[in-house]
Amino acid sequence: MGLDIVTGGAGFIGSHIVDRLIQTENRDVRVIDNFSNGDPRNLEHLRAHPSLEVVTADLADPTDVDRLFDRAERVFHLAALADIVPSIERPAEYFRSNVNGTFNTLQAARNANVRRFLYAASSTCYGLPDSFPTPEEAPIRPQYPYALTKNLGEQIVMHWAQVYQMPAVSLRMFNVYGPRARTSGTYGAVFGVFLAQLLNNEPLTVVGDGEQTRDFTFVSDIVDAFITAAASDRIGEIYNVGSGGTYSINQLVEKLGATETIHIPKRPGEPDCTWADTSKIERDLAWRAVIDFETGVGKMLEHIEYWRDAPVWTPEKIAEATHTWFERLSN
Ligand code: UDP
Repeated sequence: MGLDIVTGGAGFIGSHIVDRLIQTENRDVRVIDNFSNGDPRNLEHLRAHPSLEVVTADLADPTDVDRLFDRAERVFHLAALADIVPSIERPAEYFRSNVNGTFNTLQAARNANVRRFLYAASSTCYGLPDSFPTPEEAPIRPQYPYALTKNLGEQIVMHWAQVYQMPAVSLRMFNVYGPRARTSGTYGAVFGVFLAQLLNNEPLTVVGDGEQTRDFTFVSDIVDAFITAAASDRIGEIYNVGSGGTYSINQLVEKLGATETIHIPKRPGEPDCTWADTSKIERDLAWRAVIDFETGVGKMLEHIEYWRDAPVWTPEKIAEATHTWFERLSN
């Protein structure tokens, strides 16, 4: 039985891919994670599973990367640094992880002769798009180093497909949410912020008027897209992966059943809408999202206890945490 490598397999999306590969696809999996933002809790339920091997290693350090890819048949490359503010404050770390780490991973995958390589790309490459839903050919306009470095990683992957026939595809994910969405110290994705506020009876911090919309995509749909892309024979293609719709923050607040909100300033560089044009992936891979927003939010509420230890953000703390964002970015 061939081996699947999941880099960043202890992270939010990576751990869900590991679950699916082991529990449904009957694959052997090696997770490579440096645990900088991966969380051992995310793999705890598989700890004794004979099909899972977890290696703590940093892919940005080229020493010994080849050894980690011994027997690898397919690679799901999710290891990366996320979040906006730290990427503005510490760009070198983001280049190291997201660009050098991707380069080293590709080289090792090539040396191991893998038969599939899946890259986890980000819809943040579109920045402030002109057209909605946004197709893959839309201009690339990263607004901050996280978005830039994830896009540079994607360009390297596509270049390796072109020059070295690396059997790779890239999936540009839109606003992924689901159980295990990160809970650590950094001010980040809206679900974690709102769920921790709900648990602590604090008002939900709505940015601007809350009418901005996001293509919130449930993690099980994302996993389906990875599994489908891994099973296909497409090479050198980039696909948007989104829910098929776009939902306002006010709708989210309502579906969470929150009664108290407080408004905080709109952030520079953030789009009023994200919305994937998914016609390419529907056509080529026959994939489309199946979890609607209502169902997805319901599942988040079922798992709300996961955010019990997450930081509780107040407008004051957010203002402090985002001051470099306001200082450095402008619309
Ligand atoms: N958002 C919000 N309150 C918060 C954090 C985020 O209203 O405390 C909104 C934000 O304006 C955006 C959406 O939630 O419209 C998603 O934000 P997130 O940072 O998760 O993703 P991104 O803006 O990168 O799409």
